[in-house]
Amino acid sequence: MTSSPVVLLLEPSGIRKVDPREPQLAVTDWGATRGDGVFESVSIIDGRMPPLDARFDRLEASARALDLPLIDRARWTEALAMSIEEHDPAERLAVTLAMTRGIEGGDGTPTAWLLARPARDFTGIRRRGVSVVTLDRGYASDAADGAPWLLLGAKHLSYATNAAALREASRRGADDVILTSTDGLALEGPTSSLLARRGDVVESPGVESGILAGTTQATAFRFFESRGLRTRFAPIRARDLADYDALWLVSSVRQAVAVHTLDGRSMQVDEELTAELNDWLARAARSE
Ligand code: PLP
Repeated sequence: MTSSPVVLLLEPSGIRKVDPREPQLAVTDWGATRGDGVFESVSIIDGRMPPLDARFDRLEASARALDLPLIDRARWTEALAMSIEEHDPAERLAVTLAMTRGIEGGDGTPTAWLLARPARDFTGIRRRGVSVVTLDRGYASDAADGAPWLLLGAKHLSYATNAAALREASRRGADDVILTSTDGLALEGPTSSLLARRGDVVESPGVESGILAGTTQATAFRFFESRGLRTRFAPIRARDLADYDALWLVSSVRQAVAVHTLDGRSMQVDEELTAELNDWLARAARSE
């Protein structure tokens, strides 16, 4: 049992555990030099294997968008099981599955690895919520139609712009971001999906606006439906955000955080509903 990161390399000859303190990526790896690869984040709770189909579907969709080969789901699952074995089940894990185009000038074999480490403790932020600023993503909501090479909706390794948006939020004194399109739609967070409730309807922007298909958003929709609320994908105008009864940013490891402040204005937070949503998400991650 360890509480240190575990790194497993998925090589053609098998899965190899390596020292997490040692460098593993070549400087000539396309992932290192260009961010040319894809990844997924998986939350492990109580040492239980979570449902993986939606995640593998998205990993493969991302790989296809980048013309990368696919890695057998069974190999990823085996590596995940190995990483779970290594850790104390009491510890929540944040696991990254990553795959790049491989070595420049190489034979095209992708570089693939799994990194499992104890997740940050998000208990406080799940209870308190976050302050958010809206920031322009710089594209129209239909940009993906004319420019698929923007790879909108793919979970690729070039997350420097997402990290830059989060730093800008921090400069503005906020915790997080809702990215908006140049035609005025609210899209998603840099690492999360957006949910917005008005009355008994919960909405989330659709993937046609060039956003990632959120796995937590899908599970959250099932939670709200179980509570008798209606759910739907719908365009959400950025200028209407403040009129919603509640906003959440949702993602696999952090789960659901309510937006308590939007561009400096206070928003209502339903602490009880948020706590129940988070319990539901944790149960879903444990495959209950
Ligand atoms: N949107 C973006 C841009 C993300 O990076 C993420 C997660 O990292 C999400 C949405 C939420 O996805 P999921 O709920 O599957 O973790």
